[in-house]
Amino acid sequence: MFPNVLEVARKLIRERVQVGETVVDATMGNGNDTLFLAQLVQEEGRVIAFDIQPQAIEKTRERLEREGLAKRVEMKLASHEDIDQLEISAAAIMFNLGYLPGGDKEITTQASSTIQAIQSGLRVLRPGGIMTVMIYWGHPAGETEKETVEAFCHELSQLDYLVLKYQYINQQNQAPFLLAIERRGQ
Ligand code: SAM
Repeated sequence: MFPNVLEVARKLIRERVQVGETVVDATMGNGNDTLFLAQLVQEEGRVIAFDIQPQAIEKTRERLEREGLAKRVEMKLASHEDIDQLEISAAAIMFNLGYLPGGDKEITTQASSTIQAIQSGLRVLRPGGIMTVMIYWGHPAGETEKETVEAFCHELSQLDYLVLKYQYINQQNQAPFLLAIERRGQ
């Protein structure tokens, strides 16, 4: 079987991130991606993770502590638009849009703040670095967000960025898909 969209996102990130680098999880949720990133950068590395829900922070903290990885992760109870306040050079930035699985389905990422955060993220992405955006759009705000993010990516200069879309095109029920943006140059 073809790998699913999340597996592809992780594979692309794994291929580009070096041990000791700084990476960002823009949508922490239950911490699956935060954990993946913390393992990838190892002890010398740094993960900065955002979520607007205390529940997400708590869940992620528990998981990281259980795995002994909490020290390398900075968790921020804040919107990912605050990426613009970070003075970092990021090797990878992961977005996983939508609502918190097991949480309140009314609290979702929103087109305008997502675009702001993507723009800020691209400013701190190092050359050769990658941003992955998993688009789950099966919720009321999801369709607008999907269209806005795709339109934004279409306009990115091909001299500066490569943008990939990975999507199954014969699935029902607004299947999630992946946009991956690589900043060109080393
Ligand atoms: N990556 C997560 C995981 O591994 O479990 C799943 C993320 S979930 C699909 C989306 C998350 O984005 C939710 O936890 C939600 O609270 C969060 N979110 C919504 N708006 C946000 C914002 N403006 N800034 C940061 N996080 C936000």
